Amino acid sequence: AKCKENESFQQGQLRDYGNVELSPAAGVLNYGQGLFEGTKAYRGENGRVFLFRPDQNAIRMQMGAERMCMRSPSVQQFVDAVKQTAFANKRWIPPPGKGSLYIRPLLIGTGPILGLSPSPEYTFLVYASPVGNYFKEGTAPLNLYVNDEFHRATRGGAGGVKSITNYAPVLQAISKAKEQGFSDVVYLDSVHKKYVEEASSCNMFLVKGNVISTPATVGTILEGITRKSIIDIARDSGYKVEERLVTVDELMEADEVFTTGTAVSIAAVGSITYNGQRKEYKTGDGLVCKDLYKTLVGIQLGKIEDKHKWVVQL
Ligand code: PMP
Repeated sequence: AKCKENESFQQGQLRDYGNVELSPAAGVLNYGQGLFEGTKAYRGENGRVFLFRPDQNAIRMQMGAERMCMRSPSVQQFVDAVKQTAFANKRWIPPPGKGSLYIRPLLIGTGPILGLSPSPEYTFLVYASPVGNYFKEGTAPLNLYVNDEFHRATRGGAGGVKSITNYAPVLQAISKAKEQGFSDVVYLDSVHKKYVEEASSCNMFLVKGNVISTPATVGTILEGITRKSIIDIARDSGYKVEERLVTVDELMEADEVFTTGTAVSIAAVGSITYNGQRKEYKTGDGLVCKDLYKTLVGIQLGKIEDKHKWVVQL
């Protein structure tokens, strides 16, 4: 769907996957006016198809649009487009437990603009692709590397929204970490270089004793929808959860660490390397993250009562 300055988005239409045509002067190509989202459609028993909290992706995109001076679709338009895309690609959704359909909404400045100012036109589009599971029972947990040289975000920057401009600057940190055999990077705050922010595409949690802690969202980390849901699930399950500043030293002294995100769901962390030191964490049965994972996936597949009304059945 397209939208001109000061107008709302027109009704879009479904079309086959293919290239999009852009003006060389498009706002997204020249000044990075672009936002994306990520959500999944899951196949439950009896062929039922579920989406998980798509309204939250819509709201996050609206917040991002405000930050990046862009027009955005309404929550209803966003959710309808995601539902239509999932429905049209229903046959590509893997069977229960074998993966999901990853859905990628994009909002980009497509109007031509030479001087540095907001694009005169925006395009909202949604595409999808089947994906496998990240978290496989029995496979090795993540080995993370704390990088205090590169930062994902700074105070006053755009780290709190899902701007496309946040991702290319961390590719170098990720590829360096992968070359050394790590799964992903943990970023620290850019001022004190001691507070934990997040990993490249997921949020961080730690367990110490019977308390779960996660870095508070202070504008520099992305407020994950999985993060938010896990905080609620953990509290519903009787755990104490704290959202606060978390230091890297606390992370290194935790009993258990896990990450959350649409792509990873919940993934246990096996080790963290920081300043030449490697800390290994408990893995295997009895982890808090496995307990939370069961509940999250149970709700997403329509097997556990959805008391918060998070699930949308197609
Ligand atoms: N942090 C970053 C930087 C991300 O890109 C993502 C993925 N959207 C997340 C955290 C996790 O957010 P969510 O749970 O909404 O997928």
